[in-house]
Amino acid sequence: MPISAWMATAQPRPKAPRWHILSPWWSWITVPPAVVSILTGLSLMGRDQRESLLVVVSCMLGIAPVVLFHLYRRDTRERNQTEKALRESEERYRRVVELSPNGIVVYQNGRIVDINASAASILGTTSPKELLGKAALDFVHPECRFAIEERLRGVNERLGADPLGEEKFLRLDGHPIDVDVTAVPFLHQGEPAVQLIFRDITRRRRTQDALRASEALVSVASNLPIVLFAVDRAGVFILSEGQGLNALGLQPGQVVGQSIFDVCRNVPQILDNIRRALGGEAFSATVPVGGFAFETWYSPLRDASGNVIQVTGVAVDIARRIQAEQQLRTSEERWHLAVRGNNDGLWDWNARTDEVFFSPRWKQMLGYQDQELENRTEEWERHVHPEDLARVQAELQKHLSHETDFYATEYRLRTKDGSYKWVLARGQALWDEKGRAVRMVGSHTDVTERKWAEEALKRAKDQAEMASRAKSEFLANMSHEIRTPMNGVLGMIELVLETELSPDQKEYLDTAKHSARSLLSLLNDILDLSKIEAGRMELLPATFSLRQSVEDTVRMLAVTARQKGLELNVQVEPDAPELVTGDPLRLRQIISNLVGNAIKFTDHGCVTVGVKVEEQGAANATLHFLVSDTGIGIPEEKQAWIFEPFRQVDGSTTRRHEGSGLGLAICARLAELMGGRLWVESRAGQGSTFHFMAPFETTAGEKAPQPDDSLDGRVSNLAAAVRPDGETPLRILVAEDNIVNQNLILNLLKREGHTVELASNGREVLAASQSKSFDLILMDVQMPQMDGFEATAAIRESEKVSGRHLPIVAITAHAMQGHREQCIQVGMDDYLTKPIDLAKLRAVLRKYARRSSPAPVAHT
Ligand code: ADP
Repeated sequence: MPISAWMATAQPRPKAPRWHILSPWWSWITVPPAVVSILTGLSLMGRDQRESLLVVVSCMLGIAPVVLFHLYRRDTRERNQTEKALRESEERYRRVVELSPNGIVVYQNGRIVDINASAASILGTTSPKELLGKAALDFVHPECRFAIEERLRGVNERLGADPLGEEKFLRLDGHPIDVDVTAVPFLHQGEPAVQLIFRDITRRRRTQDALRASEALVSVASNLPIVLFAVDRAGVFILSEGQGLNALGLQPGQVVGQSIFDVCRNVPQILDNIRRALGGEAFSATVPVGGFAFETWYSPLRDASGNVIQVTGVAVDIARRIQAEQQLRTSEERWHLAVRGNNDGLWDWNARTDEVFFSPRWKQMLGYQDQELENRTEEWERHVHPEDLARVQAELQKHLSHETDFYATEYRLRTKDGSYKWVLARGQALWDEKGRAVRMVGSHTDVTERKWAEEALKRAKDQAEMASRAKSEFLANMSHEIRTPMNGVLGMIELVLETELSPDQKEYLDTAKHSARSLLSLLNDILDLSKIEAGRMELLPATFSLRQSVEDTVRMLAVTARQKGLELNVQVEPDAPELVTGDPLRLRQIISNLVGNAIKFTDHGCVTVGVKVEEQGAANATLHFLVSDTGIGIPEEKQAWIFEPFRQVDGSTTRRHEGSGLGLAICARLAELMGGRLWVESRAGQGSTFHFMAPFETTAGEKAPQPDDSLDGRVSNLAAAVRPDGETPLRILVAEDNIVNQNLILNLLKREGHTVELASNGREVLAASQSKSFDLILMDVQMPQMDGFEATAAIRESEKVSGRHLPIVAITAHAMQGHREQCIQVGMDDYLTKPIDLAKLRAVLRKYARRSSPAPVAHT
């Protein structure tokens, strides 16, 4: 019977006494005489009714005391019986409460007023008295105290009992226990109270938890690639779970209820093992089943008296592991063979433990026996050349951090005798799933001999380069030395040619002039190339007008084009930037070379120069220059080699066209230096197009000054626009200390119709420029007392006040790098080298004639 139901009946309730006329049999003894009296009375009524009535009344009076007596006796007896029943019931209740295995606590006004022995024992004491008077809720676990208190308020006569259910109590020693509680309203000494009936279900809970845990275990096992099974004493399967069953063609639970002797009939080893385990032994064994190898752990399960009641087992298929182990053994064997038989030293580093293995050959390469050198990374570090260690470690780190796919580097290792050997170290790491290196294996190849050969080669190369640099120095110096006398030779020839000559004399002198010019041009080319090859060619960036620079360059060749009857067109695309920053002189050199070649190798038709923007960035643009001609073209197989020095398509000594074969080689290298490239598209007999593409910085927002005759993107034939000489005559101040040069330049300029004044040092230049007005100064750089740089700097300083700008063109015999830069830095506008090239001089004069017109007001 549930305890709550029991409680409902156990409550003793006294019965209310009832009045009825049944009484013990002997009390009815007075009734027959009474009845006889009444009947006698009634029969006598006829005679004398008054007497009869008296008889009846007297009879009735005779019966009444008897009845009353009986009634009294009955009441007393029943009350006694009821009280006795009550006493007995109370006694029974007390006994039941005392003996009840459930804890029963009566509490009133929050205090324990009654408690049975079981409750005391559940709460952790043998004496119930100890707990009397204590607060009942002290024994409720704090975490459910509030909830229970709330619910107990509702337990009263009106609302009835409340099965509180599973709750937590606290024992006297503070230990929590699980209890199942019911609260019942109760009357204690006539006052309302609550009776708590509870039992300790801690153990049941634990058993349930254990059951749930074992169910969870089975459920986990059912998803694992294992076989979990249990067999009872009779050899019947009581459990079979796990994904491993699939391999055997079985479903989970399929064999439950079947005998092991039926299921495993074909695998006697399993039967033996189960027998062994039922005998009480726990062990593991590998059982081959079909193509699988199940490693199985058998474990006997015993009852309380130690008898084996079942065998539990877990089996895992280890066939793949066996295979992998086999493969590992094979590869280990291979590795050992490789270690023994390899001429390279092998190393194997464990990144996790920092352990390292050096093969005997590794050590032998350094002159050690295997046992002479410990397998420790410190040993390796100790032997690496101090100069190489940081580099090698950096290389290793790069590989370990996935920057490089392979580790490969060359460095020196110290041998036993103290000398160094060069090794080529190669290796690769093995990574874990998170990409961390677990291990790194590699080899060392002795490359000492190759390294020596390389070093010898490098020394030879360095020496050759030194020699080459010395050669370029020499060439540069020599060209300077040669240019000065050439200046005289060319100038004088020009002067003599202006005098009256016989046709023969004129022809001879023309030839001499031509030869001198060729010599000079060859000299310039050799100088440029040697400078580039010696790595001494530097670019000098400046901001310039792209359109003007291209047009000016092409215009200088217009005369030659016209002489050959060729059309010479320039087309700068309208979206090309106006101002660009780059090296304007080297750009000019490339364009004039390409255009010069185009004119040289074209007899009919036209030469076109185009400029377009290939790529436009925020502050830079890749410009594409195209020089096309309708000339002889270049056979495909020779297109590559024309960019090599001294290579020409027509190499015969009887070639029709002049040239050293250096121009394109220089241009190609200059293009590379500018971060660009040069290439050709051509077909023999059908003309050529040379392309030059390079990046230039662009200056956003600034517009280049538009020259008067700017072509502004339109195609124009510059050859047709060539005008006869004789622009506005200029007033030119020539600063030159050398008398021969003075004469030469004086005559040249005068012949061109310009007014010339001479100054032989910087001081004189300053004096003349302050007292007179000039359109241009041609300034020699090297002069006594005050050189051209100083004089220019002083003029520019004074111009800061006047706000004017007098063009100054440097004339220098120095073809070396640095001079041009210096000239531009101190504020010179242009640069001419000696010997003066008449065409270049004219171009410069034309440029400044255009800028100075209208002629400035004379300064007196
Ligand atoms: P050079 O012109 O002094 O011989 P370059 O290096 O400028 O030397 O040119 C090398 C060779 O490339 C030339 O000799 C010529 O054979 C060929 N070449 C260059 N430009 C052209 C062109 N526009 N048309 C045909 N051939 C050319």
